[in-house]
Amino acid sequence: MISVAMAKLLTNNMHALDIRDLARRGALEPSNQAFVNWSCNGQHTGAIGFKVGEDMITLSYLTMPRNGTAWQSADQPIRLVTTPCHYGGSRQWFACPGCGGRVAILYVNRLTACRKCHDLAYQVQRESLAERYTRRLAKVRKRLGWPGGFLNDRRGQPAGMYLRTYFRLQLEHERLVAQIVKYESQRIGLTHR
Ligand SMILES: [Zn+2]
Repeated sequence: MISVAMAKLLTNNMHALDIRDLARRGALEPSNQAFVNWSCNGQHTGAIGFKVGEDMITLSYLTMPRNGTAWQSADQPIRLVTTPCHYGGSRQWFACPGCGGRVAILYVNRLTACRKCHDLAYQVQRESLAERYTRRLAKVRKRLGWPGGFLNDRRGQPAGMYLRTYFRLQLEHERLVAQIVKYESQRIGLTHR
């Protein structure tokens, strides 16, 4: 196993790990261990260590947990799949740890997975945000005494509520509606993210 000290920090950027590059460099020979370094405009942005096993590549990287104070090491084994080529020889693929699909490129971030899995994770994150905003909006509307559901009417200032409170809740209401519309319209494909 590659030593953790040797594995370098990954940034939050999403890095592409292309199995064709690794194959070209002869890096997929069994028991080989090496690094992939990523850079952007001449600036080093991340690195990952890997070790090749039998039908397997194990990635080693360091991550900083959210709100964490210490680096944590993580090893992730990725299955390799070999398929024959039409004109002889063979080529290798990663089996995506997310969906098991055969892919040439894995995207390395907090999660290492194919593009589809990353998109899905992104979508799920967006959906849960939209749900959270919707719940918060329901509370605001309840305080305002307005009927639930943001497509329903807005009513005026409830009796007995301070004007300042009313304005604050109204602002909060508009902000939440804007967020929900943004995420929901992305979800149903009306706008690009
Ligand atoms: Zn996948």
